[in-house]
Amino acid sequence: MSNIDKWRKRAAQIVGQENLITENSELIPFSHDEYALDTFNRMPLAVVKPATEEEIQEIVRLCRELKVPLTVRGGGTGLSGGCVPAEQGVVLSLERLNSVVDADPANHIITVQAGVALKRLYEEVDKMGLYFPPHPGDEGAFIGGAVATNAGGARAVKYGTIRRFVLGLQVVWADGRLSNLGGKFIKSSSGYNLTDLIIGSEGTLGIITRVTLSLLPRPGAISTLIAPFDSVRQAIETVPDILHRGILPTAVEFVQHEVISCAEQLLKKSWPTHDGSASLLFILDGRSEDDLLAQAEELAELLESGGALDVLIAESPERQEEILALRSMIYEALREGTVELFDICVPRSEIAGHVEFVKEVEERYKIQLPTYGHAGDGNVHTHYMRKAISNGLLGAEVTGWQQLHQQVREELFADAAARGGVISGEHGIGRVKREYLVNNLGAVNVEVMRLIKHALDSENILNPGKVVQQY
Ligand SMILES: Cc1cc2nc3c(=O)[nH]c(=O)nc-3n(C[C@H](O)[C@H](O)[C@H](O)COP(=O)(O)OP(=O)(O)OC[C@H]3O[C@@H](n4cnc5c(N)ncnc54)[C@H](O)[C@@H]3O)c2cc1C
Repeated sequence: MSNIDKWRKRAAQIVGQENLITENSELIPFSHDEYALDTFNRMPLAVVKPATEEEIQEIVRLCRELKVPLTVRGGGTGLSGGCVPAEQGVVLSLERLNSVVDADPANHIITVQAGVALKRLYEEVDKMGLYFPPHPGDEGAFIGGAVATNAGGARAVKYGTIRRFVLGLQVVWADGRLSNLGGKFIKSSSGYNLTDLIIGSEGTLGIITRVTLSLLPRPGAISTLIAPFDSVRQAIETVPDILHRGILPTAVEFVQHEVISCAEQLLKKSWPTHDGSASLLFILDGRSEDDLLAQAEELAELLESGGALDVLIAESPERQEEILALRSMIYEALREGTVELFDICVPRSEIAGHVEFVKEVEERYKIQLPTYGHAGDGNVHTHYMRKAISNGLLGAEVTGWQQLHQQVREELFADAAARGGVISGEHGIGRVKREYLVNNLGAVNVEVMRLIKHALDSENILNPGKVVQQY
């Protein structure tokens, strides 16, 4: 009997035959994530769906014994090929680990299993009358996946990325042992911070089975403002001054009007203004309407003195929803023509320079690189396109996009590094960006990462080939 046949037989004994997939047609959805190209896709030899932490431990021990590489899959919404299985590998899906373990409103804390989808998490937190600020764009992601990639989203400018809210994790290590890291406390100076080591480790160091999150009181009021500017540089350059004055918006997004047109076409809704070439979108939150009004007035003054052509406030909650939907549907509108969505993060003061560099690359290669992003935290999204955009609609295939893809990627990543930034601010390195990490972080840092990987998983069982190339 081959190794994989032995593995399948014993895995079925652990989780039950009905929770083990081996049919090719049913394995296909587990061969990819949301990365657009199929370059790194790979069929798993099987998919296993454990229901308990103990079953996960047994599966990991089995993988280690039979030397079968194992890749954890959350919601599969990743954009870096992170949950794509290794060669001759299997996938462990967390979809059945989806319970709320402990809802503790008095301490503003919730503990959930790693397979809880973000949509459900927001509902549960809402029932507690509390607020969980991190909001990556796809609510189909699981909390375990979001922690494993240190997901961000637009609200990071005020609230930080998901890392800031993780108080504790339960983890199954590569040898099958289980640990509880951190806990329901705010402070700890007790040894190395293993919780932080696991956050963002993309399934390469341990399997996250439970997550303990700190929550906040709900904001009393929310408001949305739009300010158009003649140029994107002018728009972005107002942001440091605003933050310096102590106004801390929940989100500050920049959008170029030619890009937002695509979402307008998709949703058949209109952005509040097309004056100038770019807009800043602000979301403010506060304890009360009065608090919000004071913030909005001061913000409007600063925007006008920074050259805003207008300052528009979304009056009704419906109009607010509409504007936010337009911003968040840009990805959807461009998805069909997108080859890769970059998520470079640079210091705030470097955003305008990086966006102008992107423009220069567009002109040099005569391609379109629609760009928008989080002006408050330096995270810039650029789409590498295989389809042309005209009047907000996707058109013909761009000739030669395949030849230019790598060149453009290298140039954008080099520009990010030169500006003191990173090649991934929120999506993770996965398989897609692995080769570029060393140029970004330096040989020493990547070597330390490989040593950590080796120390925790010497047999390379957990998600081999992702983030760094293991020994
Ligand atoms: C439309 C769209 C919008 C998006 N917007 C954002 C955004 O605004 N901000 C942002 O940060 N991201 C965004 N993303 C990317 C994606 O949603 C995030 O990376 C998300 O956090 C991935 O979660 P997942 O459960 O889908 O993980 P998967 O794709 O299933 O896995 C991602 C990685 O985490 C590992 N992993 C998953 N679960 C675990 C676990 N329990 N233990 C250990 N490792 C695990 C996997 O092995 C893999 O390496 C967007 C994606 C899409 C498609």
